[in-house]
Amino acid sequence: MRPSPVSATVDFAADGVQHGFLRLPYSRDDAAWGSVMIAVTVVKNGDGPTGLLTGGNHGDEYEGPIALFDLARSLRAEDVSGRVIIVPMMNQPAFAAGTRTSPIDRGNLNRSFPGRPDGSVTEKIADYFQRVLLPMADVVLDFHSGGKTLDFLPFCAAHILPDTAQEAEAFRLVRAFGAPYSVRMLEIDAVGMYDTAAETMGKVFVTTELGGGGTASAYTAGIAIRGCRNLLMAAGILRGTPDPVPTQWLDMPDGSCFTFAEDAGLIRFCADLGDRVRKDQCIAMIYPTGRTGLDPTELRANRAGLFTARHLPGLVKPGDCVAVIADEVDQT
Ligand SMILES: [Zn+2]
Repeated sequence: MRPSPVSATVDFAADGVQHGFLRLPYSRDDAAWGSVMIAVTVVKNGDGPTGLLTGGNHGDEYEGPIALFDLARSLRAEDVSGRVIIVPMMNQPAFAAGTRTSPIDRGNLNRSFPGRPDGSVTEKIADYFQRVLLPMADVVLDFHSGGKTLDFLPFCAAHILPDTAQEAEAFRLVRAFGAPYSVRMLEIDAVGMYDTAAETMGKVFVTTELGGGGTASAYTAGIAIRGCRNLLMAAGILRGTPDPVPTQWLDMPDGSCFTFAEDAGLIRFCADLGDRVRKDQCIAMIYPTGRTGLDPTELRANRAGLFTARHLPGLVKPGDCVAVIADEVDQT
């Protein structure tokens, strides 16, 4: 396969703190020989494990970029044992536009792996992570939030994996992150995900969903800022010991956790995030909006559990994920 067109202005093998870019050539109307510039910070101090920390995989999710801009400006080499690679705006064109996908090619970076060195801009970014950055990493933390169309109870998560040792280490780091909720996660659409690329390489992969709505609150930004430091400490990369923080474990065992709209219309939620719901409880109603006098469609919970994620904003379309109900489980 041809080499990646991306060139890094930092030396990943050099000790110290470096702030630079992953430069991806992108010829266009306003810059014939222009580039996409993806900011990167590398902090290295001797030998040790490498943590790869990413935000902005989706461009309208903000807790991760906030935490990683904060970490990149404040991390000192002497605090690190090993290496930390920080990319706060993984899909930089999407981040700059404030959209989930790239305005250049409509690429959803988290469905573009393993990518292509001769593909679209988004596929070239995926290819660089697949073949250059992921192989350097031992531990990968990829921040997500709900973006403009979902809202979540703030959680850190990892996946159930066939390799029990890899899975156990991921859940140990989820616990150390210290979000209010910790999730054993099922993906409804795992093909092409960064998560899957990292896990297939045997990397310890941890992710988050920290709120949503196309912004971050003081509460959720604080969770992200503390969480990435806690995780690096637990991984032995950052000096210090994570503060023990209480967390509620949640399980998403199968597809019955997800409720999808089959109608278009105006959604009225009948339960809120954090509520405990019963199986068959009406959790939302969808009013048809073409005319008055029509009854709403009721959406009922497929299972009992904790109302963990919901649709935003006020109108829904057929196929939209309206609600996620998770099981509360005891786990240490
Ligand atoms: Zn996301």
